[in-house]
Amino acid sequence: MYAQIVVDIHHSAVDRFYTYRVPEALPVRVGHHVFVPFGQGDRLKEGFVVALQESTDLSSDAVKDVAGIIEPYPVLLEEQIRLAKWMHTAYHCLFIHALACMIPAQLRGQRVREKKVVTVSIRDGVNVEEEIAIRNRAPVQQAVLRIISDAGQIPKNEVGKLLPGAAGAIRTLLEKGVLTQSSAGVFRTPDVPVLKEPGHTLTDAQKSAVETIREARIDPVHNTVLLHGVTGSGKTEVYLSAIEECLADRRQAIVLVPEISLTPQTVGRFRARFGDRIAVLHSRLSAGERFDEWRRIRLGLADIAIGARSAVFAPMERLGLILIDEEHESSYQSEKTPQYSAIDIAAQRLKNTGGALVLGSATPQLISYYRALSGRYRLCTLPERVAGRPLPEVEIVNMRDEFLLGNNSIFSDRLTELLAETFAKGQQAMLFINRRGYSTFVSCRNCGYVLKCENCDISMTYHKGEGRTRCHYCGSTKPLPSVCPSCKKPFLKQFGLGTEQVEETLHKLFPSVRSLRMDTDTMREKDSYNRILSAFSSGQAQALIGTQMIAKGHDFPNVTLVGVVAADTTLNLPDYRSPERTFQLLTQVAGRAGRDEAPGRVVLQTYAPQHPIIRFAKEQDYPAFYQYEIAERKKMLYPPFSLFLRVVFADKSESTVANACLAYAKALEAELKKALGSEGANDILLLVAGEAPISRIAGLVRYQLLIKLLRTKRLPDAIRTVYGFHAANENACMETQLEINPQELY
Ligand code: ADP
Ligand code: ZN
Repeated sequence: MYAQIVVDIHHSAVDRFYTYRVPEALPVRVGHHVFVPFGQGDRLKEGFVVALQESTDLSSDAVKDVAGIIEPYPVLLEEQIRLAKWMHTAYHCLFIHALACMIPAQLRGQRVREKKVVTVSIRDGVNVEEEIAIRNRAPVQQAVLRIISDAGQIPKNEVGKLLPGAAGAIRTLLEKGVLTQSSAGVFRTPDVPVLKEPGHTLTDAQKSAVETIREARIDPVHNTVLLHGVTGSGKTEVYLSAIEECLADRRQAIVLVPEISLTPQTVGRFRARFGDRIAVLHSRLSAGERFDEWRRIRLGLADIAIGARSAVFAPMERLGLILIDEEHESSYQSEKTPQYSAIDIAAQRLKNTGGALVLGSATPQLISYYRALSGRYRLCTLPERVAGRPLPEVEIVNMRDEFLLGNNSIFSDRLTELLAETFAKGQQAMLFINRRGYSTFVSCRNCGYVLKCENCDISMTYHKGEGRTRCHYCGSTKPLPSVCPSCKKPFLKQFGLGTEQVEETLHKLFPSVRSLRMDTDTMREKDSYNRILSAFSSGQAQALIGTQMIAKGHDFPNVTLVGVVAADTTLNLPDYRSPERTFQLLTQVAGRAGRDEAPGRVVLQTYAPQHPIIRFAKEQDYPAFYQYEIAERKKMLYPPFSLFLRVVFADKSESTVANACLAYAKALEAELKKALGSEGANDILLLVAGEAPISRIAGLVRYQLLIKLLRTKRLPDAIRTVYGFHAANENACMETQLEINPQELY
């Protein structure tokens, strides 16, 4: 027997299957993690068995033996190996990169071992009462015997905890043959509270969604369901019921939630319903816990995996359902190699295993809704919040009017008034600022000079706490100059908004109100996220001020007011997705208000009150937003009518970068013409953008080439051609990077 093996070395030169002989005595199966002799001196390397075959064309002295099996069970499923082959082509990554997604890092390099616990018990046939009676001179031994005979079987160190000094007594009793001990592997399971929730009778809309998912699970073609439900409409309840049905059919489920929503609250709801059949996978687990949770899934001890992006690879043998909550979140797209999308991986896995994919969101990605309306996905809508709770009322405040009326505070009169009302009633408020694209830059009121980072061509951000300015791309800091570097006048002033400034203004207006702040600065410490949220939820503060981070996650029943300090700041970022992102963000933030009985209010402060996106956000009218935005995309041939690839060039010398970018574009164009014919080449638009929107990072000049591929039947060929070209032309002396569907066009 011969094994095809991928060796665990991250290099394109060894990115292939190597053939090894399987010794008679070694029960090697497909998916096994093994040791093989490799390279100079036949050093042992780790590898993965991806196929077995009876014979080989290679001469027998060219073939070496598999040296040993590492983990006793195959760590990869055959289905996962198929998936890895697909990823190899689709994402143009190494086999080992793809396989590495599917097993915990701790397994490779043997950094974590199974945890063993030694338990003790009374040996069979021993009469405990007699043994106790004859030990009247050894009270510790007597007590040990009592404890163990009451417990039946008990971990050795537990006895020690109950009775200090027990270790010696246990040793004696083991030697005398009164006790016996055994050792067994245990799982390190993360602590998750069980949130008891009354079972709900599903509403008609929820029932129909569960039914659609049931049908999709056995439909080999239309197996994707888009569950569009406003916040609080009971989507999670639908997930729970759909999983219940899936388990009843002896199939298993994966639930993906954005990392930031993987709170004890969320997981606790699933645990309440499914108990130990849940396994949790996320980055905050210890290495041991991660490894053990993965093993519980692999060994069939858990039927539901819940986790962030990478949990989509959970080794379920009887996969029947994958649920992706908040499917519009950009965190489902990996930015590291392989640059996979969890949604695409889920769809690809289910192609092999059968089962349904459910995408849930209050603000689906434009492309998902497009697919739903065109019949590729099944569409389910939960149009209302459960129990007749109203959606919050959204007001728009025109900040230009405020300024004309002489109010140059960052809070409008209306927001101040509603804050006062809210605090007076003992209720809570959330104040949201959109930090991305709107930060406290420093500018001269005399000459207009803006303080920028010398490395990055990005405005420096003023941090009041440190009294320094900081570049958010490279992290360099410098003191605030006392005079303008350009005109030498002392008129430098910080502009824009930061959470600190919002907090300061709030304290001036409401000195007795306590507030909490959540942004990247206050989030440096591990676990501060949960700490701040639980402080707020237990009422230790009346106001929570924050950036994107507070837009989702927890339910705060006592929050009745949400203020969006500047609603339009993301609208004008240089990215075709800015309108979509702004709408999503505003809708998510608004959804934080009035989750419980007390009705919620939302104030959107903006300088662009007439902008359609702001108006749709006010009405919380997703279909209207969709119709507007899809027309814009069509006009511009932006996704979903095309696909974007981007090549970024970076180098110290501007002329080198500029020339390389142009030359690359020319050569690629010729290559595409050759590969696709001139008609096919018309599907492709090369946008030599020149300077990237951020033209310098860390001292390197950046240029970008955007490649827009129209969605025709030639698309796969076009992608392959671009990837092939890129691989052949990677310029060793310059940083180049090819991205597919880049999430950030900076
Ligand atoms: P979503 O995931 O869409 O935000 P949830 O499933 O969390 O919504 O539901 C919001 C709230 O409504 C939760 O407190 C949940 O317990 C409750 N809920 C959900 N479905 C029902 C129902 N059919 N009847 C009563 N309450 C429900
Ligand atoms: Zn910088």
